Parts: sequence; C-alpha cells; structure tokens
Amino acid sequence: MAASFSSQILDEIRSRVDMIELVGRAVNLKRAGENWKGLCPFHTERTPSFTVNPKRGIFHCFGCGVGGDAFGFLMRQDRMAFPEAVRVLAERAGVELPTQRSPETDGKLEALRRVMAQAAQFYTEALWGAEGATARAYLEGRGVDLEVARRFGLGWAPESWNALLSHMARQGVGDETLVAAGLAVPRQTAPGFYDRFRGRLLFSIRDLQGRVAAFGGRALGSEEPKYLNSPETSLYVKGQMLYALDVAREGMRQKNRAVVVEGYLDCLMAHQHGFSETVAALGTAFTAAQLSLLRRYAEEVVSVFDADAAGQKATSRLEDMLSDVMDIRNLGWSVSRTGSFEKAGYFPIKVAVLPEGHDPDSLLRAEGAQGFQARLDAARSILDFVLERTLSEEDLSTARGRATAHARVALLLSKVPNAEEATMLAREAARRLGVDATQLWIEAC
Ligand code: ZN
Repeated sequence: MAASFSSQILDEIRSRVDMIELVGRAVNLKRAGENWKGLCPFHTERTPSFTVNPKRGIFHCFGCGVGGDAFGFLMRQDRMAFPEAVRVLAERAGVELPTQRSPETDGKLEALRRVMAQAAQFYTEALWGAEGATARAYLEGRGVDLEVARRFGLGWAPESWNALLSHMARQGVGDETLVAAGLAVPRQTAPGFYDRFRGRLLFSIRDLQGRVAAFGGRALGSEEPKYLNSPETSLYVKGQMLYALDVAREGMRQKNRAVVVEGYLDCLMAHQHGFSETVAALGTAFTAAQLSLLRRYAEEVVSVFDADAAGQKATSRLEDMLSDVMDIRNLGWSVSRTGSFEKAGYFPIKVAVLPEGHDPDSLLRAEGAQGFQARLDAARSILDFVLERTLSEEDLSTARGRATAHARVALLLSKVPNAEEATMLAREAARRLGVDATQLWIEAC
C-alpha cells in the first residue's frame, strides 16, 4: 500500500525521537563528545566505528558506510518498510498521522468488508434458523452457551455448493468479489464458482474494530479437513491476527494477562468460564506480530498446551520467536505499555501445560474454572520450559548424554538475545549439568 507523508510530519517525528534511546536498545553506546559510539549492528567489528549524532538525529558507520535517520535505522535494524517505520515512530512519538491511503485502495477494502459483513450475517442467520439445528445441537452437546455463541458471531455454512453464492447474487454481489473475499472458489473443470464453506460451523475472525476479516470452519462430522480457514485476502494476513482479540482485549487490560489457546472452541469455553483474556492462535506458528498485538494490552502472555504435544509445540513456538529475534527485540520497546524502551525480558511468554489427555475445553468441563486457573498459575517461562525438556531428553548419567545436553543448551543460549535471560538460563543449565556457567557461555559465543 503506497503511502506518502508530508515532510513536516516526518520532521516532526524526527525531532521528537531520541536517537540515543532508539539506537541504544540494539547498540551499546558510549558518549564521545557530541557523538555517541558503539559497535556497528550492521557489520562485524571489534572497535566501534558506528556513531550516532543525537542533535542531528542521524547515525553513520565509518566501517561499512551505512547511515541515515531514525526511520532508516528501523528499516535496517528491524527490516521494516518505510511506511511501517513511520507509523511505529509516530506512535512512539505521539504524532498523529493523517490517513493517507488512496481512495481506490480504501474503496476496495471497504467493499470486501461489506461482503464479509453480509456473509457473516447470512451464516449467522443460518445458524439460528431452521437449517442450523444440527449445528446448534452440536454446540449444546459441547456445552457452549448459546449466548456466548451469539456474542462470538458463530455461524453455519449450509450443506450446499452455492447457498452463499446465490444469496449474494441476489444482493448484487458478484462472484469475483466473493473469490477476492475468500468465500468462493473457481471450479477446476468447468466455468463457475462454488462456496468455500459447506456444512461447517463458522467462527468469525474479526479485526480490532470487530469487523469480520476471515472465517474458520469446523467440520461437525468426520469430514476432512477438520478445520478449514479462509485463505489470505486483503483483509486477512496469516500471523497478523488472533481469534477473539476484539472480545478479549478488555479482559487482557484488566488482568494484565493474555491467555493463548489453540482451538476456537477452547477459546469460547475459556470465555464462558470467566477467562475473558483468552484468544486463539490461528495456526501453530506464533508470530512476533501476534505477540506484539497481545503486548499492547497485557504484559504477561500464557500459552496453554496439551500435555502430549506441549514439549514439541513450546519448542517450535520458541524457535519461531528466536528466528525472528529482531522483531522480538523491537517488541521489547515498541509496544511497551510503560513507554520505556527497556522491558524486562524479551520472552514474556509462559507455558501452561494441561494434564494428560486434556485440552482447555475438556479440562474446563472436568475441573471447572478453578482447575484451569491452577494450570495458569503454574505456568513457567518458555525458556525455562524448553531447557527442562532439552535436559530431560538426554541421559545425564552418562558422559555422552551430558555432552549432548551441553551442546544443545549452548546452542539455545547462543540464540537468546537478552543478556539477563541468557544469564539466568546459563546458570540454571549449569547447575543441572554440573558444569560451570562460564563454560556454557564460551561455547555459546
Ligand atoms: Zn557498520
């Protein structure tokens, strides 16, 4: 999306950004007269040739030659595009940006939103009408409050190849628009289109304004796939949204905690039991963007996993985060509620593990809110959790097992960008392995 910003606005943002603070979260800067110096984050060096001039609001490296202003720094350091860097710094500096999207793009997005709203209404009416009886019975069987189902905008896609297509045609919405909205699919062997969602319970994935951006469809029987989601569209980008965030953000603010579960129904049941701070991750990968959304509202994020898959999933979630270290570092400040660049811990995610054979839904039904609360209370730091798992997988009574565990922990340590957390991790691992923490450090570096 093309965006242009006036030079006054850009100057205003530049003048309000403290370059030392901005650069200082990535580079250890020392004062040298009017400038500040440090090791360049963009090339490897042993003596500092990277300088920042806070007065002029610029940085420059005499080693590799890169330089620029605050926007340039973010674009390079956090791999942001220019408009994103402008938005982030504007928000940070408290400068209001005029909305500058082109009317054409806005018009297209608006049209898609209208179609999604119409579709959502169609599906909702289907759920509460005669044809939704089976789906309603299913919900009741699962113990879902019908009031909760309404609040979350659940719907029913009728068992038909063209129920939505013909309904929308009557409303004057063309097939191509439905395809763009991810609601219809072109036929492969003949001209024409068919409904993407058929005979499925639908969960509305809404943006922060509560506008429907996508649907998640659950099969009621044994049809495959069990879950069918909207494809990516102009409104829906995977990894950028969380299910129920629009409903949960107030709860998150109040409790200063976000609970992340995996399934739509888990999420609904959690809300029904008073855990109003719950969202569902859409897919197994958990992105820096999703974490940043959560951290706008809460400082603590608890990821809930089933016992059988907890280790593997927590590890891959941590790896997703580690692979995106730059983004995570960025989160440390850009979404800080305290307004400070410093943030205790870049990995605010905790892991709560449910008892064997349970998911949040079944646990809530078996043990009620108290049982779920107890598991949330017992949640541990994701780093700690992964360390524990790594160690438990090796036989520490043998020299070979200890050596492997040692190497794996050193590898984990080498990826943790936050010194404080890495130190804590090293200390704990050293204690468990019966080695010196410094030894682990040397290998990690
Ligand atoms: Zn450099």
